[in-house]
Amino acid sequence: MAAGGKTWTAAEITGRLGFSSIALDMQRRLTAEGIAAARRAGLERMEISYGSAHFDWRDPAHVREIAGECGKQGIALVSAHLPYHVKDLGAEDPAQRAPAVREVLDAVQIACEMGARVGVLHWSGTEGYRASLEQIAARLDGLPFTVALENGARIAPVQELVRAVGSPQVRMVLDIGHARDKAGDNPFCTEPGAYAALRECADQLVHVHLHDFHLTDHLPPFAGTIAWDAVLGALRDIGYRGPLLFEVHCGHPQALPERQRTELHALLATASDETLHEAGSVPFLALLRGRRPGLTPGTPAHALATDLGRALKEVCRLNLRATTEQALAAVAGFPAEFVRRYGTHASPRTVRSG
Ligand SMILES: [Zn+2]
Repeated sequence: MAAGGKTWTAAEITGRLGFSSIALDMQRRLTAEGIAAARRAGLERMEISYGSAHFDWRDPAHVREIAGECGKQGIALVSAHLPYHVKDLGAEDPAQRAPAVREVLDAVQIACEMGARVGVLHWSGTEGYRASLEQIAARLDGLPFTVALENGARIAPVQELVRAVGSPQVRMVLDIGHARDKAGDNPFCTEPGAYAALRECADQLVHVHLHDFHLTDHLPPFAGTIAWDAVLGALRDIGYRGPLLFEVHCGHPQALPERQRTELHALLATASDETLHEAGSVPFLALLRGRRPGLTPGTPAHALATDLGRALKEVCRLNLRATTEQALAAVAGFPAEFVRRYGTHASPRTVRSG
């Protein structure tokens, strides 16, 4: 329950504030300069994101360089985003899964050596994936390390998987930008939605990915419509003890990638007038939200609207992103901005529960 019936002070948030290295650009190699930029912004805790163009965890020299720089510059590595796609981790055949399990364990080993205590892993719903997790959990036994499974649109299946594996070292990371309710909306944009979703996964939660959401996710805090007062209030209510880790993408305004543009042109050129008319009847905002009211699934108009919606969303994603400096500054400025907006008053929910 909330200490003293209040929300958060800026100092309390700062004491747990962290950022993902994706703010330093996943397409670029992580360097001492990137770490220095985060430090200059005032950040002290980092999640390192594995990816050969960014953090080449298979290159011992790069691992040594980054671990050394973090130590020297005063950045604590609190977590690691383990490889995004581990081929065959969910395969049916145990022999086919074995190299994938080994890959995750090798990645965990590097994270442990760098001081991280949590490793984020994207989940899948196959039987093979559960079996792989059980093998990983057995090997983690006794190590000060937890694998945290990250939700996509739905939170419940991740909880079921965590429950099925039944290991204290396989838990959950909640990504507030990915979740969608039954209507397709992000529950963390409203107070009741945020409280309900966080209470639902309270007992499995070891880590969070925070970012703002408006049409697309991974935006800097306060750039979208996330109900931050409710998210932080609920985290306090459920007794969450982990870092407040912001996963904000960086990038620069861009046009739709060439390949997608060509595909879309071809699609529009070959569609019949009737299809174009039908697909064109869907409001712009509905398309952006992945909805196609009035169109029948399986029809050419429905397919065209789906592709148009995807392209529009991609344009938004590419153009709403912050630069590295903006992303780091927005994360570092979150504690003060949170208190400026919401104060340290008792939130209604906290008073009721406390
Ligand atoms: Zn995430």
